Amino acid sequence: MTHATRVTAPRGGSTTETRILVMVGAPGAGKGTQSQRLAARLGLPSVSTGDLFRAALRDDSPLGRSVRPYIERGSLVPDEITVQVIADRLTQPDAAAGIILDGFPRTRAQAAALDELCAERRMSVLAALYIDVELEELVARLGGRQVCGAPESHSFHPRGNPPRVAGRCDVDGTALHEREDDKPATVRARLREQLAPMYEVVDHYNGTGALCTIAGDQPIDEVTRELVRAVERRSARA
Ligand code: ADP
Ligand code: ADP
Repeated sequence: MTHATRVTAPRGGSTTETRILVMVGAPGAGKGTQSQRLAARLGLPSVSTGDLFRAALRDDSPLGRSVRPYIERGSLVPDEITVQVIADRLTQPDAAAGIILDGFPRTRAQAAALDELCAERRMSVLAALYIDVELEELVARLGGRQVCGAPESHSFHPRGNPPRVAGRCDVDGTALHEREDDKPATVRARLREQLAPMYEVVDHYNGTGALCTIAGDQPIDEVTRELVRAVERRSARA
């Protein structure tokens, strides 16, 4: 069964059919979970800056060495580094029909940089999908999050999203573990430092008209349904 959603091509506008979707939300809101589900439904690649950075950390590459201190203390990686990573990723062939950006942009400057990258390529952000979740729930989700060893890190939670077999990923069977930056002190730092810039990203897309707000305090399937409906609505208007 295919879940591919037909997306209407813009008529006579300055953009192409390329669908750029951005997932916006606080740490723990469900961006990764939903981005992977949307990718399967829409037939688009899902790219997480967090996953790209974690791969660089594992490889101990120059990129990994430059981002390590920021990630370990729960701060945002500087915009110049992050924007370059996404600019490179957008040039890869699998992004030609579109891409779902999970965790980018996370600052107003990154949002402006993405607008410029899109304009250079005659693309635009079709929808900024903001998953809105209460602070208390974010803390609970990050506290219990278990992730697997795959590059695109599938995540689970004993309460809202338990794996079928305890300690094993449903998708690839690899062992689940806690992320280093999900330890309580780093969770506090991430929420303290990252929420204000995230609200600026929300404001940015409110201004461009691309913002779609989805209540994230609902079961995973329901959030997915609302996200798909939001993308369909935006596609019909494009
Ligand atoms: P979360 O699950 O908290 O949303 P991610 O896996 O997306 O976390 O990101 C992990 C870390 O990588 C972030 O806490 C931050 O340090 C860094 N990071 C990821 N995306 C960005 C970005 N767009 N800008 C700056 N830093 C980022
Ligand atoms: P983010 O990428 O925004 O940091 P994740 O997708 O990793 O968020 O989700 C954070 C944690 O919350 C994970 O353990 C995930 O299994 C769980 N989770 C995601 N969505 C929901 C939901 N709607 N209800 C309950 N738990 C959820």
